[in-house]
Amino acid sequence: VTVPNVRLNNGVEMPQLGFGVWQVADDEAEKAVAVALETGYRSIDTASAYENEAGTGRALRGSGIARDDLFVTTKLFNSDHGYDSTLHAFDASMERLGLDVLDLYLIHWPMPARDNYVDTWRAFEKLYKDGRIRAIGVSNFTIGTLERLLAETDVKPVLNQVELHPNFQQAELRAFHQEHDIRTEAWSPLGQGRGLLEDPELARIAKAHGKTPAQVALRWHVQIGNIVIPKSVTPSRIAENIDVFDFALTDADMAAIARLDKGERLGPDPATFDWMG
Ligand code: NAD
Repeated sequence: VTVPNVRLNNGVEMPQLGFGVWQVADDEAEKAVAVALETGYRSIDTASAYENEAGTGRALRGSGIARDDLFVTTKLFNSDHGYDSTLHAFDASMERLGLDVLDLYLIHWPMPARDNYVDTWRAFEKLYKDGRIRAIGVSNFTIGTLERLLAETDVKPVLNQVELHPNFQQAELRAFHQEHDIRTEAWSPLGQGRGLLEDPELARIAKAHGKTPAQVALRWHVQIGNIVIPKSVTPSRIAENIDVFDFALTDADMAAIARLDKGERLGPDPATFDWMG
């Protein structure tokens, strides 16, 4: 399977579909990332908070795949917000990953009440200008926190990684991203495998295409232009989740999935979330 690339607003190319490793212990992450790389995934999404950057790094090195063919994302955790602490946290992540240059670094959560994300972003800009990171972005930013970042800093984020799936479609935020040439990356693209994948409409559409509900959900993301990072540790599902580039949903399918939006999050609200571990 070959995954198409999307071009980010700074010209860097990124695979539209990658592999996420939240809630996967370090040694298990090493195995799962190795399977994903063998299966054809080239983009891996980890985070300092996931405590599996080391296992992810071992799998990347062990794969024998050329560094230039890999796209690695990690995230700055909440307890590391601030200019100097960001620079230190970045070095620690790179040490664990065993990399010299990172493809994409994200602020994991904005924590607006702590009011430190602008300084944090200035450290991201320094690392980017120094050539340590190929692209910088954010995660869980709202329209309000993005507007402030755009107004007060120089480098525009390439993407915003947010909770997004057919039951939580984020239409307003996606429109804002599009207006500002910021890509939307969907976390929990399968709705964490709970509920969404049992939806009868998804099942009906899946049957019509000879695909699974998970593949229909991922195909929907691809067709609305999202970058997606589904997670699984099961080899058959890892293979299933990347096999979404040989069919297309019809306009009627897309309209039926648009009606599944419930506007309900599975995860925390970024306006208030400030857990520090
Ligand atoms: P997901 O929507 O990718 O769902 C994963 C779960 O769905 C699996 O654990 C499994 O139970 C099930 N599943 C996977 N493939 C399946 C298949 N083919 N058929 C049936 N069931 C299947 O959920 P996620 O892990 O929450 O999100 C994906 C990635 O997004 C994470 O691993 C992480 O990298 C990222 N993420 C980021 C944030 C953030 O704050 N930035 C938050 C959550 C997740």
